[in-house]
Amino acid sequence: MVQINENYLKLPGSYLFSEIARRVAAYSEANPQAKLIKLGIGDVTRPLCPAVIEAMHAAVDEMGVQETFRGYGPEQGYDFLRDAIAKHDYAARGVQMAADEIFVSDGAKSDCGNIGDIFGTDNVVAVCDPVYPVYVDTNAMAGRAGEYDEKTGKWSRLHYMPCTAENGFSPVVPEGKQVDLIYLCFPNNPTGATANKAQLQAWVDYANTVGAVILFDGAYEAFITEPDVPHSIFEIPGARTCAIEFRSFSKTAGFTGNRCAYTVVPHELERGGASLNRLWNRRQTTKFNGVPYVVQRGAAAIYTDAGKKQVQETISYYQKNAAVIREGLQTAGLTVYGGVNAPYIWLKTPDGCPSWDFFDRLLQEANVVTTPGAGFGPSGEGYIRLTAFGGAAATAEAVERVKAIL
Ligand code: PLP
Repeated sequence: MVQINENYLKLPGSYLFSEIARRVAAYSEANPQAKLIKLGIGDVTRPLCPAVIEAMHAAVDEMGVQETFRGYGPEQGYDFLRDAIAKHDYAARGVQMAADEIFVSDGAKSDCGNIGDIFGTDNVVAVCDPVYPVYVDTNAMAGRAGEYDEKTGKWSRLHYMPCTAENGFSPVVPEGKQVDLIYLCFPNNPTGATANKAQLQAWVDYANTVGAVILFDGAYEAFITEPDVPHSIFEIPGARTCAIEFRSFSKTAGFTGNRCAYTVVPHELERGGASLNRLWNRRQTTKFNGVPYVVQRGAAAIYTDAGKKQVQETISYYQKNAAVIREGLQTAGLTVYGGVNAPYIWLKTPDGCPSWDFFDRLLQEANVVTTPGAGFGPSGEGYIRLTAFGGAAATAEAVERVKAIL
């Protein structure tokens, strides 16, 4: 009889979003007149910009003409997109990246999950707490996480790095402990925190010393506003020999429904005598058949002059929402983090109120839906995540409602 991957049986249910949906549905059913505003949503709401739409229309037309029709594309992405990424996302910030170090994909979520394919199961994995759950669950599926403990909300073999107000929500390098795969996400989901150059340098130095690999998720890079915040791990000296970076067009340009992202694996990155760039290329060419031509043309359009301006307008729209939430809640006397270089605001619940209790209070008294911080890991307890991806008017109203109940 066939054997299944029993690691899947160890996974707890995806409790967070189903529990939010359950509580929201129950409240709406009992209070059909309530007009809920959702500040829990992690998806974009603004449409694709005109430059992207124009490029995609032109690409669709090409597909309908014999001479310009395209079938399977290169698994790693078309040169026009890889070159544009190297030029605009890296060279423009003083980082040299060869086009063949860039692998275009259908999402940072898939890449963050799939990257585990090229690493052994005995590696010790370090994750932030709170954390984007994909890093944890995909390692559990691969058998690298050990056993899940319902009581603590932790996996036995994962190394959790608490990210708290005390350390500025930026994890510190483990002392006297070897970790092999290190997931870092800056700007961070869910806390909205960033890491400065010195903090990232400490990680790069650690990884190079012990032979670890940093998996750096920069999905929210476009939201950075402060000049001294690094946009890429590759701005840090030494990163080319120890880091892989994930980026996405999802939040940068509204591609959540379009699907386009990329992963950077430098040529110098070698472990066990093998080039990780070659391993990832082997993995991608075997298991992935590339992002649609039309989508890649749309993605490349964000690097044109018009595209850059239009994409920035949308980012600015969300950044204004973030400022409205952050400043509004601060005025109300609440302690808030994030929202300056990220679309996420990490709100400390008043008087040590547990996350889920404060979630219920905001739902029932303000009719505002949020995300309880406890759902992102034990250190998220006592926090609520708010997002800036909603409409401007609804966001402003939600903030007024929350202020009114406090
Ligand atoms: N990485 C982080 C930290 C995210 O929060 C998300 C989406 O919410 C992703 C990656 C997924 O990006 P993509 O849409 O490219 O799969």
